[in-house]
Amino acid sequence: MLKDAIVIGTGFGGITAAALLAKAGYDVLTLEAASELGGCASKFERSGYRFSAGATVGMGFEEGGMLKRLFEELDAPIPPMRKLDEIMNVYLPDRTVTYFSDKERWYKEVMDKFECDQDRIHAFFEEVFKVAEILQKFVEKRAIFPPATVSEFFVLLRSLDVKLLGLAPYLTQSLQDRLSKYGLTKNKPFMTFINGQLMDSVQTTAASSPSLLGYMALSIFHKGAFYVEGGLASIIHALAENYHTSGGEMRLRHKVVSIAKQGDVWTVMTKRGQVFRTKQVIMNAPVHNIFSLLEPELHIDLPLKEEKEKQKYAWGAFTLYIGADPSFLIPESSSIPFHQFISSYESPLSEGNQFLFSMSQEGDTKFAPIGKRSITISTHTNVDKWWDREKYDSRKEEYMERIIDSIDKRFPSFSSKIDIKMAGTPVTFKRYTQRADGKVGGYIPSGKYSLLKNYSPNSRVDGLWFCGDTVFPGAGSLGSSLSGWMVADAIKGKHPSYGM
Ligand SMILES: Cc1cc2nc3c(=O)[nH]c(=O)nc-3n(C[C@H](O)[C@H](O)[C@H](O)COP(=O)(O)OP(=O)(O)OC[C@H]3O[C@@H](n4cnc5c(N)ncnc54)[C@H](O)[C@@H]3O)c2cc1C
Repeated sequence: MLKDAIVIGTGFGGITAAALLAKAGYDVLTLEAASELGGCASKFERSGYRFSAGATVGMGFEEGGMLKRLFEELDAPIPPMRKLDEIMNVYLPDRTVTYFSDKERWYKEVMDKFECDQDRIHAFFEEVFKVAEILQKFVEKRAIFPPATVSEFFVLLRSLDVKLLGLAPYLTQSLQDRLSKYGLTKNKPFMTFINGQLMDSVQTTAASSPSLLGYMALSIFHKGAFYVEGGLASIIHALAENYHTSGGEMRLRHKVVSIAKQGDVWTVMTKRGQVFRTKQVIMNAPVHNIFSLLEPELHIDLPLKEEKEKQKYAWGAFTLYIGADPSFLIPESSSIPFHQFISSYESPLSEGNQFLFSMSQEGDTKFAPIGKRSITISTHTNVDKWWDREKYDSRKEEYMERIIDSIDKRFPSFSSKIDIKMAGTPVTFKRYTQRADGKVGGYIPSGKYSLLKNYSPNSRVDGLWFCGDTVFPGAGSLGSSLSGWMVADAIKGKHPSYGM
């Protein structure tokens, strides 16, 4: 039977596109290689605990937020979650900074914790919020960027307004350039704090981050960060449930191994040899995976080239999954789910020197039995070092020890309260999420102009679409989901700019 659309993958991008199309009455089949939904935002269960595989911080559910609007559009109930006032404790080598959602509390925290340049930091953040507000309005219009067709170009034009055009000078500046204008680049604690935040959102530090991308990232917590019961997998499952209710068909453990086109019809083949036919293919794996799937004759039409793609750098993740008794916590930190550790000002913010520690909250029995907590820890790592089989196990042990030592320094009884611990590496991510070489989190911005080098969700091969964190607007649950929404808009031939 000819399907209207086949979605390959159930990450945030794929499940968004699938749910929207099914809701609009399209006959959709979703094929997922893993036995779990969600890719980098998925979950797994061990010894009575549920662990988030990667992503943990919920965003976009504030009033008017992108994921809130998605759930409204789908008429789906939003999973239980809590908007956080105190989002994260950031442990710098000589101070702890609490990231408050409320701007006034945040400014007060800046005054308390950064003894130098307080007025400049305040002025810098005022600019961050002002610019991000304008950008947010543009992103919400869901114009495909860069435009691949004349109609996409006109949609983009219609999405531009005077305020947005006023941001043109920022296009030629990195975030470091802006920080330098505010005289902040020599303030080591503040720069380390900013770079730590950027690593977790933009995947790079201020020097390589386009200023506009950095501003969006630095403003996002003040819009709203959420603790989602059972983790971000609960959001994926809510979207999947809505998809089923709308009549969408889902097949887990169905890895797609080839995509070919005959006339206007695509054939999608799985590892088990099943062949499915469709008018539209939506690929939610990273764009660089396309070369191993798409028939070679069509490679020429793609805007990306295989050799260049292989060399493009992206981070891998080293993860630690820990089930523990929470008595190691000190009272002021027990109700904060997210903790960022930075051990040294001198070392790069990766490979265990910087990591995010996300902890389930008291009473969240989706994650852990009463009286226990599920913890997911992640640090950025260079993927290349994990493919040497001989060094693999010792390296894993070394990273595990380094991270647990850092936590013990902050919470002295931590290691004695651990019930269960497991590590994940780029090898694990490749196996469970199909990400080539274990590269996660989208591409690393390569400098001030990298916003202009984004890949479009439109592959330029008729009927083939991309969504997920390697295409515009980029990484994270919000960016990935938004690209899925853009693809659904395009297939439906409806765009918000047309007022439809
Ligand atoms: C450690 C870590 C921490 C993170 N923390 C956060 C966070 O706190 N907040 C946040 O918003 N974001 C976070 N992110 C980023 C976020 O998780 C990702 O950007 C986002 O989830 C990626 O979604 P995606 O749509 O690109 O799909 P992916 O997550 O890449 O999923 C793609 C899916 O497609 C399937 N697939 C691939 N190829 C095939 C095939 N051939 N056949 C069938 N199925 C296939 C895979 O199995 C997978 O399920 C984190 C990422 C990592 C790795």
